[in-house]
Amino acid sequence: MDLNQIEKEAISDIRLASDKQQLADVEIRYLGRKGFLTAVLRGLGGLDPQKRKETGKSANLLKIKIEKLISEKANEISGLKKVDMIDVTMPGKDFEFGHLHPVTIIYEKLFEAAKPLGFSVVTGPEIETVWYNFDALNTPKDHPSRDVTDTFYFEDGKILRCHTSPVQVRYMEENKPPIRILAPGRVYRRDSDATHTPMFHQLEGLLVDENVKMSDLKGTLEYLVKAIFGEDRKIRLRPHHFPFTEPSVEVDVSCDLCGGKGCKSCKNEGWLEILGAGMVHPNVLRNSGINPEKYQGFAFGLGVERIAMLKYGVDDLRAFYDNDLRFTEQF
Ligand SMILES: [Zn+2]
Repeated sequence: MDLNQIEKEAISDIRLASDKQQLADVEIRYLGRKGFLTAVLRGLGGLDPQKRKETGKSANLLKIKIEKLISEKANEISGLKKVDMIDVTMPGKDFEFGHLHPVTIIYEKLFEAAKPLGFSVVTGPEIETVWYNFDALNTPKDHPSRDVTDTFYFEDGKILRCHTSPVQVRYMEENKPPIRILAPGRVYRRDSDATHTPMFHQLEGLLVDENVKMSDLKGTLEYLVKAIFGEDRKIRLRPHHFPFTEPSVEVDVSCDLCGGKGCKSCKNEGWLEILGAGMVHPNVLRNSGINPEKYQGFAFGLGVERIAMLKYGVDDLRAFYDNDLRFTEQF
């Protein structure tokens, strides 16, 4: 065997040795009187001077290496691994405490704020059927969000949900009103730039009961927005369109920097868009087994990263996923 081969096999044999006896056998096999490495060292005399010098050096280095590995393995086997290295008089190392990711912080603030209103947290699958993700939510057959350029499809026709709204349908199927739920989770869209990532986090809220009115929605949103952004912030509702709500609104929060007067940060609007909402479309209630003649509901949905960006002044959404400690340690 040449030195390379001896080294390879010795390392492997030492690793495989599982008790003292096996390790002793390995030592004999390589370093013993008739061991492989010993044979090489003995054969040095027959080599020409230059070759003798090189091989001798390599063989001795390998001998030291094998001895060291055997000694480490022996310590490992007897459970004494590096115990002799511990100096108990040394001062302890500081613990580095981890902390919550900004997305988690926003989620927890929202859960906490909505709890006194009777909302509980419900989750559902990220791989969804077209029925739960689109059809049940009254999305027209030709709606652009159904397109393969917008939504991730699997070969079997299932999709990665593009919102957490399917959770609402699934919950309404199983539960009778009154319903008050928050549906948090990851959602997926084919989008990628400074303000869009293919995966982001949503939080949706759903309330279904008798005599639910638009004013209930507005009051709830105002309360939640103030809980996140502060008591001095205002909201405004703008008419919008979503397939699953009617009427539908987009909700803005007053700009913190200019107090609503208009500045660079809010593009001179005085307002920043934060979420979509509306009264649950009767078709959605019907598709979920709830009688829209008797019950009404409101729903809202927001991107958690978007809220975090506005709250903490982050201008690139992708920073939330880079795992750069210089970024995440700031929260
Ligand atoms: Zn502003």
